[in-house]
Amino acid sequence: MNSLRGIEVKYLKGFGARRASVLEKEFGIKSLYDLLHHFPTHYIDRSQYTPISSFIGEMPMVQVKGRFITFTIQGEGARRRLIGLFSDGHATMDVVWFRKIDELKNIYKPGIQYILFAKPTIFNNRWQMTHPEIEQPTSITATGGLRGVYPLTEKLRNAGFTSKTFFTAMKNVLEAHPSFTETLPAEIISRLRLMDLHTAISVIHNPSDTSELQKAKFRLKFEELFYIQLNLRRYANQRKSELKGHVFSKIGYYFNSFYNDCLKFELTGAQKKVVREIRADVLTGRQMNRLVQGDVGSGKTLVALLSMLIALDNGTQACLMAPTEILATQHYESISAMVAPIGVNVRLLTGSTHKKERDLIDEELRDGSLHILIGTHALLEDRVSFRNLGLAVIDEQHRFGVVQRSRLWTKNILPPHVLVMTATPIPRTLAMTVYGDLDVSVIDELPPGRKPIQTLLCYEEQRQQIYRSIGRQLKMGRQIYIVYPLIEDNEKVDLLSLQSGYEEICEVFPSYEVAMVHGKMKPAQKDYQMQRFVSGEADILVATTVIEVGVNVPNATTMLIEHAERFGLSQLHQLRGRVGRGGEQSYCVLMTKQKIARETRERLQILASTTDGFQIADADLRLRGPGDLEGTMQSGMSFDLKIANIARDGEIIQIAHNIAEDILDRDPALNSYPVLIENLNILFDKKIDLSRVS
Ligand code: ADP
Ligand code: MG
Repeated sequence: MNSLRGIEVKYLKGFGARRASVLEKEFGIKSLYDLLHHFPTHYIDRSQYTPISSFIGEMPMVQVKGRFITFTIQGEGARRRLIGLFSDGHATMDVVWFRKIDELKNIYKPGIQYILFAKPTIFNNRWQMTHPEIEQPTSITATGGLRGVYPLTEKLRNAGFTSKTFFTAMKNVLEAHPSFTETLPAEIISRLRLMDLHTAISVIHNPSDTSELQKAKFRLKFEELFYIQLNLRRYANQRKSELKGHVFSKIGYYFNSFYNDCLKFELTGAQKKVVREIRADVLTGRQMNRLVQGDVGSGKTLVALLSMLIALDNGTQACLMAPTEILATQHYESISAMVAPIGVNVRLLTGSTHKKERDLIDEELRDGSLHILIGTHALLEDRVSFRNLGLAVIDEQHRFGVVQRSRLWTKNILPPHVLVMTATPIPRTLAMTVYGDLDVSVIDELPPGRKPIQTLLCYEEQRQQIYRSIGRQLKMGRQIYIVYPLIEDNEKVDLLSLQSGYEEICEVFPSYEVAMVHGKMKPAQKDYQMQRFVSGEADILVATTVIEVGVNVPNATTMLIEHAERFGLSQLHQLRGRVGRGGEQSYCVLMTKQKIARETRERLQILASTTDGFQIADADLRLRGPGDLEGTMQSGMSFDLKIANIARDGEIIQIAHNIAEDILDRDPALNSYPVLIENLNILFDKKIDLSRVS
């Protein structure tokens, strides 16, 4: 099979350089291997014909069997078209061609039986098909089984591609290459009773029935997911066995005096559990790489701080990296206040730290008198050099690429332990795929005494009512967030609506201070506006989603989200987490226009019905697919999955995971599996070297 990676599609009959280049541009298909992995998106039963009289509403692709009655040419110039009146014996429709008119009118004949394949549409009150695929019932592709519908784009259509082009090409390639070298070991194939590769590929392109198709899909999905798992586990194991880490055997002055004298509340059970997991990690003598997932407000920062204190107790330094200057500053302020009584030296390093302070930081880092350094990306700069870094904490991890994270490692001879904290709840199957090499802890409990945020779905016509409630909150001295969507493609329009929203708010609440932030502002200006809100100087913040991550303003009690239908559920959940952080009852208002699709409403209702981030993330994953889940794309490991679906194939991911573990347990270097090594090398050749990445 892998040898087909070296044969270009342009040498295929009927393709040629021009069409091949369209195929490459549109779908990245270059070789015969790529072509064979261009799978149908769905299938149509070839034995089923849809009567024209039954067409109704928005129609899918269908097959119709019948005869042309007449052909006429209508219109002039660009509007010139060939129209065939087509009857299935009971009703008629028009078949329309705009291109190759003179050629086609001689090809198709009235009175002969044809099978047409297309998506019927209505034009001038009549059903029609434009440029359908046409076959005679006797032709090879028309005999029985299921017919694959291949993804096409407008450019491909214009270059003359149809579903049939793909079907025929696949058939030719499969005939010319009647067997493939297996890409999975025989052991796995027999253990899972998998279809062999050639059969699976043949079936996926031309299945005879659905049960055969299921088997083929299983084989191909498994293979795809298995190699991802194997790759991740292989490096994770290698790292675990090779990378030594600090041993933090002591719990001493810093931890104990903080825990006993400074902590005003009891840790939640979940926080205790995660601290125990971290303690176990740092005793093994290997580098810790742990992801802590916890919903907004679950108290991750405290867990991070306790871990850092353990690092200090063992004679090392710690750092905490946050994605924005605001967040870094917030962490700095709250952490330095908490540990001030026990004499921990904490400093803040960001892009705007002044030279004098920077020089001091550099000096204290080197002589070891600086215990905890908190900051932004600035921590990654080469000049930041620790005497002995024992623990690196990364907050809100999805804003950092994998490669950036790995740079922290090079800051010490013995790599620091790495603790990654994220509030993006990632469903288990996704975590397994994306973070297969991280150990995962979950804080699944909120500190006691929180009042659950009330979430309301509101229509535009209730706006005045909402403004009145906001007015009451403002009167009580509370602060308000108002969030607008900002989508790149729609940027101009979105910024306008943000701007006019801002002006409206200024008019409606003339006696209050309003700040505005959006991602297109200069960072300094953005920070200034944000700071006005954080400090309480501004009462209302009108913003795009730039505020989404981590900002902590406990006095803010209302989050109004405009055009809520345009946000993903997980994103809405993150935004909602900006309120309800103090003791007051908080509200999240999802504003939409009256007319939204029913599914959209149902989607938003999920949010109104639960505050459990994991439930919401699961629903989001199901509804929107993994590409939209924040954290997958930015994690630097976006997977180009051809057939498997992270949201729906959880069971197969689990099987793939278990088999990968099992094989690596028995044969860590995969010495007896040359086929696995060959395919890992091909598949992950140019990917990031995971051995250097947390
Ligand atoms: P997040 O997980 O969103 O980062 P934080 O660490 O910012 O959450 O914690 C949110 C708030 O809850 C903070 O004000 C923190 O002091 C408080 N908090 C954390 N743990 C507890 C606890 N066990 N009991 C009571 N309050 C807590
Ligand atoms: Mg936080």
